[in-house]
Amino acid sequence: MKVIKFGGTSLGSPERMKKVAELVSKEEAIVVLSAISGTTNSLTEIAQLLYKNERNTAKQKITELQASYVIFIDNLLQEKAQQTKAIDLVSSHFSHIDSFTEDLFTVHEEKMILAQGELLSTALFQLHLEELGIQSCLLSALDFMRIDKDLEPDSFYIKHNLERELKQCESKLYITQGYICRNVFGEIDNLKRGGSDYSASLIGAAIQATEIEIWTDIDGMHNNDPRVVDKTFSIEQLSYNEAAELAYFGAKILHPASVYPAQLSEIPIWLKNTMEPTKLGTKIAKTVDDREFTAIAAKDGITAIKIKSGRMLLAYGFLRKIFDIFERYKTPIDVITTSEVAVSITIDDNSNLDAIQEELRYLGEVEVNKNLSIVCVVGNFSHDSMGAGNKIFESIKHIPIRMVSYGGSQHNVSIVIETEYKKEALVSLNNGLFNQN
Ligand code: ADP
Ligand code: ASP
Ligand code: MG
Repeated sequence: MKVIKFGGTSLGSPERMKKVAELVSKEEAIVVLSAISGTTNSLTEIAQLLYKNERNTAKQKITELQASYVIFIDNLLQEKAQQTKAIDLVSSHFSHIDSFTEDLFTVHEEKMILAQGELLSTALFQLHLEELGIQSCLLSALDFMRIDKDLEPDSFYIKHNLERELKQCESKLYITQGYICRNVFGEIDNLKRGGSDYSASLIGAAIQATEIEIWTDIDGMHNNDPRVVDKTFSIEQLSYNEAAELAYFGAKILHPASVYPAQLSEIPIWLKNTMEPTKLGTKIAKTVDDREFTAIAAKDGITAIKIKSGRMLLAYGFLRKIFDIFERYKTPIDVITTSEVAVSITIDDNSNLDAIQEELRYLGEVEVNKNLSIVCVVGNFSHDSMGAGNKIFESIKHIPIRMVSYGGSQHNVSIVIETEYKKEALVSLNNGLFNQN
């Protein structure tokens, strides 16, 4: 059995949702759907308004969003009875959302609101399949998808509960929600923005799928960020490691954690374009590829922290003390570079920055720079290869560099620059490494 995931843009209009139904109608698969594009953003806005106690504006947004669903239904479904079912369904979801405007608003209520997008898209999709006479079973991800106390997926729980749910409804075609899950307390939670890709990969691993297909609005992973650079091209084949590095360092097409579950079970992932299904797309698998440069990605919102101390000279245990502080504040480190008397570290989560800085001051002088980007060049830079570094730095010799990390893995060179130079760096690297200008 396959897992086939469709992102929000693939469901963004009634016509697109119909196209998705066409694509899956003859498949034997678990179909994972995101919310219809724009919905999770709108639900996030509503939640932000409720945090600020701006209840009337929140109510107005809720009404607007509900109205857009009514129009959607009108164009998606033909039969009156099916339309009535859909309108009732949408009303019940929106009155649930509306109920949160009356009371205390916390992170729990926010998560319940955010879950409504995927619950709506999957239910509407099934009503459409029903109208077409295509049998399917709708599984609630809330019955099997779970994260543990460290907010990591609980693979054992997912596998056993999904197997049970699958047995309860015999079908060739299952539909379920991406993104949403329960946490260790049984409350509604989610896998963070873009998390439907992660759901698909976790489901794929749980059922040992033959393949995982991720359908989106572009023909696979491109060699550079198409939102920033004009001349990019699709890559036919990627190794799991290359794909994971690109996803982690900003290639939005994949959620950063979504490669690993598939990689553990060696399940191939296909990235396909819903608007152009005949295009090959990208296959991510266990391959050895010896091309020098594969792709470039960039991640914004990076903060660099430099800790400088004479005590570091010839000392051991200094790095452990630094890492301890970041671990206690559950703040992951992306890039690290060291000299004899200083360490520079980057993070992308500033929520505990003040407290971290406070503690680091006991170890040395601390300097913080915000508004940075990590530009990540992915390829094969084995320890005996030559010249790749030269080509990279020659391409961006006119751009000031804050940090460089080379040799951490054979697949990645990370360069930290100020975000204002990001576009220039991506374009220049596209020119210098791929001859695309
Ligand atoms: P979905 O709604 O299907 O999950 P996303 O918006 O999350 O879609 O991901 C697809 C988008 O990722 C593309 O439209 C593209 O702009 C962006 N993207 C960023 N980097 C890359 C890349 N290297 N290759 C392909 N797409 C990329
Ligand atoms: N709907 C969620 C989001 O917009 C999850 C996803 O699309 O993958 O982030
Ligand atoms: Mg996405």
